[in-house]
Parts: sequence; C-alpha cells; structure tokens
Amino acid sequence: MSLCGARANAKMMAAYNGGTSAAAAGHHHHHHHHLSHLPPPHLHHHHHAQHHLHPGSAAAVHPVQQHTSSAAAAAAAAAAAAAMLNPGQQQPYFPSPAPGQAPGPAAAAPAQVQAAAAATVKAHHHQHSHHPQQQLDIEPDRPIGYGAFGVVWSVTDPRDGKRVALKKMPNVFQNLVSCKRVFRELKMLCFFKHDNVLSALDILQPPHIDYFEEIYVVTELMQSDLHKIIVSPQPLSSDHVKVFLYQILRGLKYLHSAGILHRDIKPGNLLVNSNCVLKICDFGLARVEELDESRHMTQEVVTQYYRAPEILMGSRHYSNAIDIWSVGCIFAELLGRRILFQAQSPIQQLDLITDLLGTPSLEAMRTACEGAKAHILRGPHKQSKRISAKDALAHPYLDEGRLRYHTCMCKCCFSTSTGRVYTSDFEPVTNPKFDDTFEKNLSSVRQVKEIIHQFILEQQKGNRVPLCINPQSAAFKSFISSTVAQPSEMPPSPLVWE
Ligand SMILES: [Zn+2]
Repeated sequence: MSLCGARANAKMMAAYNGGTSAAAAGHHHHHHHHLSHLPPPHLHHHHHAQHHLHPGSAAAVHPVQQHTSSAAAAAAAAAAAAAMLNPGQQQPYFPSPAPGQAPGPAAAAPAQVQAAAAATVKAHHHQHSHHPQQQLDIEPDRPIGYGAFGVVWSVTDPRDGKRVALKKMPNVFQNLVSCKRVFRELKMLCFFKHDNVLSALDILQPPHIDYFEEIYVVTELMQSDLHKIIVSPQPLSSDHVKVFLYQILRGLKYLHSAGILHRDIKPGNLLVNSNCVLKICDFGLARVEELDESRHMTQEVVTQYYRAPEILMGSRHYSNAIDIWSVGCIFAELLGRRILFQAQSPIQQLDLITDLLGTPSLEAMRTACEGAKAHILRGPHKQSKRISAKDALAHPYLDEGRLRYHTCMCKCCFSTSTGRVYTSDFEPVTNPKFDDTFEKNLSSVRQVKEIIHQFILEQQKGNRVPLCINPQSAAFKSFISSTVAQPSEMPPSPLVWE
C-alpha cells in the first residue's frame, strides 16, 4: 500500500482557497523524502472464505470431477470452469428441475462444491505469493468478503481481462421492503460518478423474469479496506492518515450534495487500493435525506461504534451529520489504531462519548427521546458541536492530503510536459441530486421485480457486450450457494433505546 510522492506546488495551493500555498509548500518539502512505502495490504480472504466454505456438517470431501481425459484438456477445462463471467445474453441458469431430472446448480452437493472452491482459493494464494504478475489471466474467481447485504467475489471481466468485484445481492425478492432497498441501492450505484464513491461498472444480464432471483453487480476491485489496514501491523504514517481522511470527506461531500445519507460509514465500508485510493462503498443502508422533521427515520442504522449520539439518544429524525460523526470516529481510529468508542451497549456508547466530548446542547437534543435526554442532563455539562464535510475540507490539516491526492492519485487532474494541470474543482458536488421519487409508486414484489428487470436491461444501452454468469463454472456453484453473514458474525447491531 504505497503512497506516491507529492511535490510542493504553490500554484495548485494558490488555486485552492487563496491563502494556504506558503504553508503547504513549507510543510511539504521536509518530509517528502521519507514517505513510507507500505507493503501490499494483507488480504484476509481465508477468513471470509471459511464462513461459507466450511460448514460444520460437511462430512465427506469428494474430489473435483473432471470431464476430460488428457492433462492439457483438463487444464483448459479447469481454466474455463474458473471463469464465472461470460460475455453474452443470460440463459435461465437454474430452472426448477422436472421430475426425474438432475437438480440445477443451486441444489448442487454442497461438500463437493465447497471442496472445489476451497482448493481454488488455496491454489490461488500459493501462486499469487510467487508469481504475482504472470498469473493474472488465469487467476481464479474467489470470495473476498461478505456482509449483511451480499457476497462479493473477485472475478475476471472476459471482455478486457481486468479483475473486477462481483457482488451478489441475494434474497432480493423475498418481500417488498428488501425489493425496495435493493432497487434503491442499484439506482444509487448507477447514479454515482465520483472517484471516492464506489459505483456500478455493470449489472449482469438477468435471466427471463421467471428465473430472476438474484442480482449481480460488477464494481471496481479494491484490494483492501480501512478496517483490515487498521488492524494489520503495517505502519500508518501521518501522510496516510491525511490522504485517507481527505478522500473520505471528498466522497462524503459528494454524497451529501446528492442528498444522500450513507448511514453506515465505518472502516470496513471504506475500500482502499494498493495506491491508497479510497472509495466509500455499501449503500445498503443509504437513503435520501428527509427534510420534513415530522417524518420518522429508522434508528436501525450505523454500526454501534460509529453511531452518532443523536441516534443513540433515540432521535426519530437526523441529518447527514450522522455520517460526519462516523468520520470523526474513524479519524481517531486511524491515529490511535484502536476503536475510539468501543462500548458494549448503546447506553455505554453514549457515556463514552460524553465523557470524552461533552454534552450535546439542548438544541442538539431537541429530537432525543425523554429517557436519553434525562440521562444526559444528569451528567456534568460540556459543549460539543459538529462540522459539515464541505467545511471540514477547508481545514488546513487537509491541505497536504489534497495536494498529494491531486498530484499523483486522482483522475481529475493530469500531467503535461510543462507540469501538472489541476482541475478547477478539487471537491466536486453533484447536480441534480439523487431522485428517490421512484420509490413512491412501488407497491408489490412482482411489480418491483419487473421494474428492476427492465432497469437492468436498460443500463446496457448497447455500449459494451453484456455480461452474464457462467453457470458451468465451479466458482458459480459456491457463489450461488453462499449466504449472507449471520448476525453473530457482524459487529454490534443497532438497538433501540429503552
Ligand atoms: Zn485531481
């Protein structure tokens, strides 16, 4: 995980805010030469893989079946079998088996499938440590992570050979709530156009609507995330912290300008590649801000350690400031390499916060529930306040992060023979905002299913060859049978006060 060098550039800093160029140039050259070069982040995919590859009940492990006799043909078949993505139109891939026929892949023998996938993961890991470059085109598909809202695999795009992330959104059509949530997430992923926000590169072609059960989204593949990096032994310099914080706020300023609250900002949802480019991901809890204060919003949001005091205090209405709270917690966690407020319960969570930061003002507690307000007012009073992403970005602490990002990490500026040409807007916003009025007319599972099906087909627009799942691939069988994370595997879940 290496940071590029950033030369002091007075012209660029002068372009930004007009007043910070001298300070940034002065700061910059003395630590330019010892920017730490971090080793590639260690990926904990074994850990993730084990959850769905090794259920306790798998008794016998069978060898992987081969359909060919010669070794060369077997190798070719294995390579083909490893490719989960096919170019072309989707065929129905798991029709209900007719009486007397073999079941489809969804019902494949789990032990066999899991053994094959486990072998694939193991083989990959071995190869990768010895020949990181040469193995790229036959790198097998493998699981890289999963959460409450889906499973993510690292796969190869057959159209250009690039590695991409493939996310399965399972159980989409179980009920109307989940249909709407997934549709909202899909719409957002297709809406986003910002380098610090993960967006959809593609959505796989759905089968005929009668067989349409899962949705597969292709996104850029990122090697790690801030959680893995924070808990790893690799050093994090102040240059890393600055450029990470800059990018988090840059992405969040964009999201908030779109009128979107992420509602689950935490280190695990901040993906990082080997060049330290950071992208906010997982919009499973995201929604458009509610401007009408009389309308209730769910409190079932944000992993507890990163949850803002107003949610902990039972507010039925909150703003995008809840995301900024999470960023503050993550900033402290980057500096201290430990979770800032790691409590066992929401009440203890609130006590830890007020111990360190003081009491919210009465104005800030306006929407809190009475029990929580009484609890806070019993304690000693101290002041606290919160900043917006836009205003935070104007703080001089972020000048060096901005300089580094736009000198050698961004896609918005470019270099010429005479020097770097900077964008006119370092932290762009979006206009118009994300429009969620489509949600008002969604009333039944069948209807939403048809709308999503149509939406996915429309995304293609004839630009590229469409992609679909290869149901013959060994990885597919494991992928299709993989489930979402169980509550016991997740960080402390949201709880309601009282
Ligand atoms: Zn730039």
